[in-house]
This record gives sequence, C-alpha cells and structure tokens, in this order.
Amino acid sequence: MIYRFSLQSFLTKAFAAFLACIVFGYFIDNIMLALSMAFFIVLIWNYRQLIKLIDWLWHKNLLYPPESEGVWGHVYDGIYRRIKAYRKKQKKLNSQALQFRDGAEALPDAVIVLNKFYAINWANKKASRLLGIRWPADSGLRINNLVRSPKLSKYLKKANFSQACKILSPYSDDVELELRFMPYGKDQFLLMVRDVSQSSRLESMRRDFVANVSHELKTPLTVMRGYIELINDDENLPPHWQFSMSEINQQVDRMDRLVKQLLVLSKVEVAGIDDIENKVDMPMLIDGVVSDLSLILKKKKHKLKLNVNQDFGLYGLESEIKSACSNLLVNAINYTDDGGEITLSWFEQRGNWTLSVQDNGCGISVLDLPRLTERFYRVDKSRSRDTGGTGLGLSIVKHVANHHNARLHIDSELGKGSCFSIYFRSQDVYSIKDGKNKEA
Ligand code: ADP
Repeated sequence: MIYRFSLQSFLTKAFAAFLACIVFGYFIDNIMLALSMAFFIVLIWNYRQLIKLIDWLWHKNLLYPPESEGVWGHVYDGIYRRIKAYRKKQKKLNSQALQFRDGAEALPDAVIVLNKFYAINWANKKASRLLGIRWPADSGLRINNLVRSPKLSKYLKKANFSQACKILSPYSDDVELELRFMPYGKDQFLLMVRDVSQSSRLESMRRDFVANVSHELKTPLTVMRGYIELINDDENLPPHWQFSMSEINQQVDRMDRLVKQLLVLSKVEVAGIDDIENKVDMPMLIDGVVSDLSLILKKKKHKLKLNVNQDFGLYGLESEIKSACSNLLVNAINYTDDGGEITLSWFEQRGNWTLSVQDNGCGISVLDLPRLTERFYRVDKSRSRDTGGTGLGLSIVKHVANHHNARLHIDSELGKGSCFSIYFRSQDVYSIKDGKNKEA
C-alpha cells in the first residue's frame, strides 16, 4: 500500500492525539501522566518501526518494504520509490550498455574502448582475434603495452588521430592492421581495428605497377630522344619531315614529363609519416624553385612578387615540398596570359603557416574546383596539352599536403585568377635562427 504524505493531515492527526491525551488526563485528573504515557507509547512504537526497518534493510531480501501505518508508512514508501527509480535507471543503463556491446560485437572490426591513458575499458571478441586482447582479463592494461609496436607508441605519443595508424599484426607479418582512434564519451577513445591486408596489397600492386611501367618507359624514351636528336641534326632533312620531327619531339617531351610526374606521384603515395622530420629551409627552397623557373617566367613576361618570411622553415620532406611548390608555380605561369602577376608567399596568418601561389590568370569555374586534384583531370584539355600539362600536378600537391598533415585550399574565380594555398600546422614550423619549433 502506498501512503501519500500530507503535512496538513500529519499535523492534524498529531494535534488530535495531543488533545485526546489532554482530555484523558483531565478525566483521570493527571494531564502530565496522560501526556507521559502517550509519549512513552509513541517512543515504543517508533523503536518497533525502526527495528522493522533495520531488519528489512539488512536481513530481508525483499524489494517491498514492510507494511506500516502513519509516518512510517511514508518513510517506507519513500525508500521504496527511491529503490524503484534507481533500479529502473540501472536497468535502462544496463540495456543501453548491452545494446552497445551487441552492436560492437556485430561489427566486422575489432572495437576497443580506451580511457584517456589508452588503458582498456572494454573490448569485443574480434579484438582477441586481431590483436590478442582479451576482455575482461586485459582490462586496465595500456594498449601499447599489449600491442608491442614502435609505430603505435610513436603514434600515441604524437596524439594526432586525424589519420589512421597502420601496423603489422602481432601474429603475422602478412597481415596489416589499420587502427583508428576516435574521441568518445568523456575522456575515452573508441579504437577500431580492421584487417586491411587485402586492400593494402591491391593498392601496393597498383602503385608498383604504375611505378614499374613508368620506370620501364624511361629507357625507350631516352633511346627515342637520341634518334630524334640524330635525325634533327641532319641538315638534308626535307622540310615536311622537319615539321613531323618537331611534333614527335614535343610528344616525346610530354611523355617524358608524364613518366616523371607518375614516378613522383607513386613516390609521394608510398612515403611514410616517419620521413617528415627533416628540416626544410623554406626561403632557400623557394629561391631554388624560382631560379629553376626564371627562364620560363621571363619568356612569358610575368611579374613575380615574393612574400617570403625568411625566419621560419618547415619539418618535412624537401623533395616533396619542392615538387608541390614548383607544380603550383608552373601552373600559375602556364594558366596566366603573358605579362601576368604572380605572388608566391610563405607566411603566417592567424596561426596558419601558408605556402601560397596567387595569379591573375584564367581562373577556374566552381564546377571544376572539386575535381581538380583528381589524377589526369584537366579543365581545358587543349590548353593543358599546349602547356605540356599532364593532369597530375595538383594530385601530387594534394598528396604532399596530406603527407605533411597539411591542407590544400583552392580559391579561384573564372577570368580573374586563382590562389592555391597549403596550410601547414604551426607545430611543424621551426625558427631557422635558433632551430626551435615554433610552438616550443
Ligand atoms: P596540368 O598538368 O594539366 O596543369 P594539374 O593537375 O597541375 O595538371 O592541374 C589540373 C588542372 O587544373 C589544369 O589542367 C588546369 O585546367 C587547372 N589549373 C591548375 N592550376 C591552375 C591555375 N593556376 N589557373 C587556372 N587553372 C589551373
């Protein structure tokens, strides 16, 4: 039975009992005795209820409290309600936890819940198959103590989880695992581990194929170029042959550029994260790129403005940064009409270190912008062919940016010009004077 507590009814009953005692005292001619007897009876009754409550709490395994009247009925009712609400909440939480676990068990990947120290809170069954983690036996152990991989330790130390970490399985060197850390709940991480051996193998076969074909094409191209030069040197070459030979020469040049770009692209694609710890003197690198392209700049009568911060360099791979910078500058030169204005900058703005190339050339339509970094994508094929473009330049730039944890951003307006910017993280920048990291 549930007793709803009402203060008014409680006070009325107490007052009525008090009055009854006074009346009874009046009749026996001893009000004090009547009040003392009443007080004694109430005390005994309260002690009895207290003992009943203690007995129920400690000795009885019952959800329902004992039956009682009066104020104790309200106490029991209150406790019962609290227990019921707590049980309901607990049941709901348990069912949510079960739902999460069932969902995580149904996934084809290993799922591990880690705390902020990367210690294991929970793991599904697949975690045991892929990484040998058993739950609950390994609960509380740090993931990098169980999965011994220098690559994983380094990755956790850096705590940059924007890209996945790939390691070899602790059980087999033929199995490659991809680990993705995602911040989850309060100070927790959800670690998803997937076997990517097959897709990695296919991807590496594709890369090897492109790299090998490109490499194999270099020798026939060199031989062809030799013969072309030999034939061109012949003074008795009929005029109609001269035209054909110059056309062949142009196409061989184009193929040569294509092969070189393909080799650069396959190199950038396979480069690991570990390679990007060398210091790159950006002002010097930019000087080198500009001097390499000075002839073509002069030929096209472009005005080049340099806005280069001389004090800061970048942790990275010099060959890749140089390739990205020169691809952007070559594009600006090629896609800007003669006498254009190009600005090459290396500067900091609102915490972003940026390498940018701006031109006032033909610009790009918004429709083409999303596809620009695809391999072999060219907006105007005939113009790109005239400029000797391969359609691989921006793809290389994007890969270089990704590889350096940077971001390529393109701003362009048709007929007005374009600005290609690579935003680097400030922790990847160092001071050339004292060699210290920008953030140190
Ligand atoms: P390509 O070797 O053809 O220049 P890229 O990958 O470097 O290949 O560039 C892809 C396409 O993007 C180019 O064909 C061109 O249409 C467009 N593009 C690149 N840079 C510029 C620029 N600075 N101004 C206008 N269009 C550009």
